[in-house]
Amino acid sequence: MWQVNILTLFPEIYPGPLKFSTPGKAMDAKFWELNTKNIRDFATNKHKTVDNTPFGGGGGMLLRADVLGVAIEKFFIPNGFPIIYLSPKGNLLNQNIAKSIVKSDKGINILCGRFEGIDERVIKEYKIQEVSVGDYVLSSGDIASFAFIDCCLRYVPGYVSNEDSLQDESFGEGRYKYLLEYPHYTKPLVWKSNKVPEVLVSGNHKKIFEWRLNQAEEITKNRRPDLWTKYLNGVEK
Ligand code: SAH
Repeated sequence: MWQVNILTLFPEIYPGPLKFSTPGKAMDAKFWELNTKNIRDFATNKHKTVDNTPFGGGGGMLLRADVLGVAIEKFFIPNGFPIIYLSPKGNLLNQNIAKSIVKSDKGINILCGRFEGIDERVIKEYKIQEVSVGDYVLSSGDIASFAFIDCCLRYVPGYVSNEDSLQDESFGEGRYKYLLEYPHYTKPLVWKSNKVPEVLVSGNHKKIFEWRLNQAEEITKNRRPDLWTKYLNGVEK
């Protein structure tokens, strides 16, 4: 069972969306588990303060190193799993990062920041890996954690029943590596006078494959020149 441990200021928001559909079922089936702990539980003064103003000035508040240090040493360090701090300054999350994180250990520790972030010394002291979920700024690491965990879960053994679906999807590893996914259609065959592409109901599997590959190539070329270049160069193709 893959174990996810989270330090947050709002444990009550979990499991949130992860309780539903595929992640929720996988949690019920004990493929993974989620434990949360409130950072405020480790505050020492009577007001339970966890933050303070940045040295050098500037707006906002930072989570204090002393409070986070105790929280990390009590809640994370004993289990020995890697520690991730979700941060816009981190390595940009992608399927490869998610895969290597899941394969590296039986669990993970996630530190969720708030306000302006956390005291930098914490990151160095505990050799924390920083991961970003995109080039934009969210209000908290909690929001980012849902995307991060959901993305990682796909590599937890037993989570995805059909391995092929990992291969063929956007950012998959098979023939469609570096390609965005082709379009899908389902019933009804005709909707608002738009018909499903003929080839998909032809029963000709070779033609269907060719059509899908062609669509995936067109979409990638138009929308993601960065991926298109990798595809053309055949990196690990
Ligand atoms: N001052 C910081 C942003 C703080 S946002 C900066 O400019 O880099 C508050 C918290 O939200 C952060 O501590 C981080 O945990 C989380 N967060 C915001 N954007 C994120 C992103 N793109 N990926 C992961 N976490 C993010």
